[in-house]
Amino acid sequence: MLKMKTTCELCAGQLRNDGEAFICSYECTYCPACTVDLAACPNCAGELVRRPTRTTGVAEITRRAPGRLLRKVRGSQP
Ligand SMILES: [Zn+2]
Ligand SMILES: [Zn+2]
Repeated sequence: MLKMKTTCELCAGQLRNDGEAFICSYECTYCPACTVDLAACPNCAGELVRRPTRTTGVAEITRRAPGRLLRKVRGSQP
């Protein structure tokens, strides 16, 4: 599961789970304002892409699709 960081690593500005943010493959996270000045991630030089928003909590997923999250957590176990 993607770790939803709540602050920009460059300016320490607050990021919302359902707001705009940019991440690299290592999940370094930046706000849109900082990303404008970045050609790549300053930490790893990796590509920065728009972070998918997360509008629900784990409890919400379990309520909407019971079993879906459990299957993912349990993996190959019966
Ligand atoms: Zn920032
Ligand atoms: Zn990075």
